[in-house]
Amino acid sequence: MSLLSPTWTAVAYLVAASCFILALKGLSAPGTARRGNLIGAGGGVLAVLISFISNDLDHVGLIVGAIVIGSAAGVPAARLVAMTQMPQLVALFNGVGGAAAALVAGIEMADASDVSAIAAAAGGFTVLVGTVSFSGSVITFMKLQGLMTTRKVTYPGGPFVFGGSLLAAVALAAAVVVDLADATLNPPLLGALAAVSLIVGVLFVLPVGGADVPIVISLLNAFTGLSVAASGYVLGNVLLLVAGTLVGASGTILTRLMAAAMGRSLTSTLFGAFKAHAVVAAGSVEDRPVRSGSAEDVAILLGYARKVIIVPGYGLAVAQAQHTLCELAELLESRGIEVLYGIHPVAGRMPGHMNVLLAEANVPYEVLKEMDEVNPQFATADVALVVGANDVVNPAAKTSPGAPIYGMPILEVGDAQQVVFLKRSMRPGFAGIENELLYDPKTMLLFGDAKESLSKVVTSVKNL
Ligand code: NDP
Repeated sequence: MSLLSPTWTAVAYLVAASCFILALKGLSAPGTARRGNLIGAGGGVLAVLISFISNDLDHVGLIVGAIVIGSAAGVPAARLVAMTQMPQLVALFNGVGGAAAALVAGIEMADASDVSAIAAAAGGFTVLVGTVSFSGSVITFMKLQGLMTTRKVTYPGGPFVFGGSLLAAVALAAAVVVDLADATLNPPLLGALAAVSLIVGVLFVLPVGGADVPIVISLLNAFTGLSVAASGYVLGNVLLLVAGTLVGASGTILTRLMAAAMGRSLTSTLFGAFKAHAVVAAGSVEDRPVRSGSAEDVAILLGYARKVIIVPGYGLAVAQAQHTLCELAELLESRGIEVLYGIHPVAGRMPGHMNVLLAEANVPYEVLKEMDEVNPQFATADVALVVGANDVVNPAAKTSPGAPIYGMPILEVGDAQQVVFLKRSMRPGFAGIENELLYDPKTMLLFGDAKESLSKVVTSVKNL
C-alpha cells in the first residue's frame, strides 16, 4: 500500500523538479555551483524516496540491491577520478542513463496491453535514442580513455552506412509503434531496434576526432535527457518528464556554446570527417631556435612588471600546479603588480575546467577574466604568462586555414610586451599543430613540469 496520496506525491514531485531548476541556476556561476550541485542531488534523493513511498513496488530487494551496487561503483569513481578524466566519467554516467531509460521503456512496452499511439511512439523513441546515447557514450569513453584511437575514424561509404543504419533504426521504431498499437508487441522486433540503435550510436561517434569528443558527449547528454523525458511519458511520470527536458535543453545549449567557443558549427563537428580536408602539417618538433630561459630570468621579467596576465591551460591541470600558481600570483600582487587570469572557454579538457581548477586554489573570481574581457588588456600587459596552454593561444587559429583549430577565437597573448611559456617540451597541444608564437623573439620558454617550474620561479621572485 502506498504511503503517500496522489496529491502529496504531486507536491513532492513539484519540490524535486524545483530543486532541479534551482540546481541549474546555481551551476551557471562558479560562486554558486557547489550549492547548486547539492540542491540538485537533494532533488534526486527526494525523487527516489517518493518513488518508494508513493508506489506499490514489487521486487524491492532487487531495487535496493541495484542502488547499493550503483552507489558502490559510482561514489568511489566520482571521488577518485582525476580532474583531467572528468569528461570520460561524465560520458560513462550519461551512457548508463540512456541505457536505463531505454531498458525501462522497453520493459514497460513489453508488459503493456493497452497503449495509446502517443505512448507507443514515446516508447519507440526512448529505446532508439537511449540506446544510441549508450553506445555512443561508450565509444566517447574509450576514445578519451585511450582505449582506442582518438582520431576520426572514416571508411569508404561512411555517410551511406551511417544514413542507412539510422533509417533502419527509425523504420524498426515505427514497426514497434505499429505493433504496440495492435497490442501485440513482438519482442524480437524490440531486440532488433535496440541492436540497430547500438550500431547507430557507434557509427555516429566514430568519425568525431579527439578535440571534438567532449562536444559529442554534451550532445549525447542532451539525447539521454530527451529519452528520459519520453520514458516519463511512457511511465506517466511527470518528474522524469521535467528532469529529462531540463537535461535535454541544457545539454543542447552547452553543445552549441562549446561548438561556438571552438569556432565550429555543430554539423562540421559531427560530420566534418566525411568531407575532404586541406592537409595540415602535423605538429612536427622543429629544429628552429627558441629563446629558453631559467626560473631566475622569468622571475626578473615577472617581478619587475606592472601588469601580468596569466593564461592557464590543460598542462596546469596535468601538473596540478594551481596552488603554486596562486602562490606566485599573490607574491606578485604583494609587490604591487596587477595580476589577472585570462580564461579561454575551451582551455583544458572540459567546459569550466580552468575555473574549477583555480577555484580549488581559492583564486578570487574577480581576477578570472573571460576571453572577450581580457583580450583588449594584453596590449597593456608587460608579461603574458602561459602555463600549460598551447592551442588556446595559437595564432594558427587565425592564420592557417585547414588547421583543426582554424576559426577558434584565441587569447591574444602575442599583444603583450613579453610572453613566457611554461611547458615541458616543444610538443604541440591537443590539436597537434605547431605554435609559431613559441619561436617569436618576444617569447621566453621555461621548460619543465609546470609545478616544479612555478616553485622555482616563486623562490626566485622572493630572492629579488
Ligand atoms: P593544449 O592541449 O593545447 O596544450 C597543453 C600544453 O600543456 C601542451 O603544450 C603541453 O606541452 C603542456 N603540458 C602538458 N603537461 C604539462 C605539465 N605537466 N607541465 C607543463 N606543461 C604541460 O591545452 P589548451 O588548454 O591550450 O587547449 C585545450 C585544447 O583542448 C584545445 O584544443 C581545445 O579545443 C581542446 N578541448 C577542450 C575542451 C574543453 O571543453 N575545455 C573540450 C575538448 C577539447 P608539453 O607536452 O611540451 O609539456
